[in-house]
Amino acid sequence: MKAIRIHHHGGVEQLRFEETPDPKLHSPDDVIVRLKAAAVNFSDIQVRQGIDGKRSCLPRILGSDGAGVVAAVGGGVKELKVGDAVCLYPQYGCTTCWACRSDQQHFCEQPQRLGEQTDGTYAELVRVCCHNCFLIPAGLSFEEAAAIAVAYLSAWRMLMTDAELKPGESVLIRGIGGGVTTAALQLALSVGAHTIVTADNAEKLSQALRLGAKHGIDERHQDLAPEVRHLTDKRGVDIVVDTNGGENWVKSIAALGRGGRLVTCGASAGAQPPTDLRRIFWHHLKVFGSSLGSRDELRGVLNFLESTATKPIIDKVYPLADAAQAHQRLVQGEHFGKIVLQVDG
Ligand SMILES: [Zn+2]
Repeated sequence: MKAIRIHHHGGVEQLRFEETPDPKLHSPDDVIVRLKAAAVNFSDIQVRQGIDGKRSCLPRILGSDGAGVVAAVGGGVKELKVGDAVCLYPQYGCTTCWACRSDQQHFCEQPQRLGEQTDGTYAELVRVCCHNCFLIPAGLSFEEAAAIAVAYLSAWRMLMTDAELKPGESVLIRGIGGGVTTAALQLALSVGAHTIVTADNAEKLSQALRLGAKHGIDERHQDLAPEVRHLTDKRGVDIVVDTNGGENWVKSIAALGRGGRLVTCGASAGAQPPTDLRRIFWHHLKVFGSSLGSRDELRGVLNFLESTATKPIIDKVYPLADAAQAHQRLVQGEHFGKIVLQVDG
């Protein structure tokens, strides 16, 4: 089969479109999926670069997000059949620890993720466990279905499970345009939240306002915390979604009202931001961290998308062979929504 594989960590020149062996069924619970689409995530870039915590055994086929059609099933697979259209939950655990036994693989201390510790979805075929396959909600394309697991599941866990977002609450989403932040905006709007988005790009703010965001703040020209106070009758927001960290983390803390919740799932701008702990306890703030969620939460996401006829926002679709261009677009931050690779074959 054809796949995008890296043999060395490094730049986009390491993404090789090449012939690789077809995956085979290994255990009775295995499924082979013929992929139609694979979404690109920032973690794919970190694996390609080989940053700390993301170094992979090489060669490795990248990609955690995918959707396609079941091509073969192991003898123990009961709930799927050849021809089913599925999207994939990307996480595996050790199968024996307390977390894995309670179907919370995201808490496992020996996690494995598609495209990191096992071969991923930038390929024509992938082998996964049947329990990691979920039927695609009606009305979604393969490209849209491939965009769900990492971004929408992360946003769902942060806003719905952790922060327990309620109708009428105010949510500040920083850096609109990313996969998780656009998913967070769609979820917040569906709940009936009062949404404020930020960007350093006027076009992205306009796109978010067209989707239904109440206010847009251009962080290049406006001071975040005073602007948020002005928009919230001096209270500050109930929830901040911060996926970047770095020096600007302190502004996220400052934008929260008393009893506010900050949710985080990324640190692309820096992993050790300054924090005034007094503000956290004086203002009764809560900080929630997340990296993905459970299979059960993914079921919740899929039910939500189907029942509300919500479609994941797709920025741009590239042929699989052009994965390097897709990575470049993500790194340059030009996107609004998910960047997806289309797999022929
Ligand atoms: Zn485990």
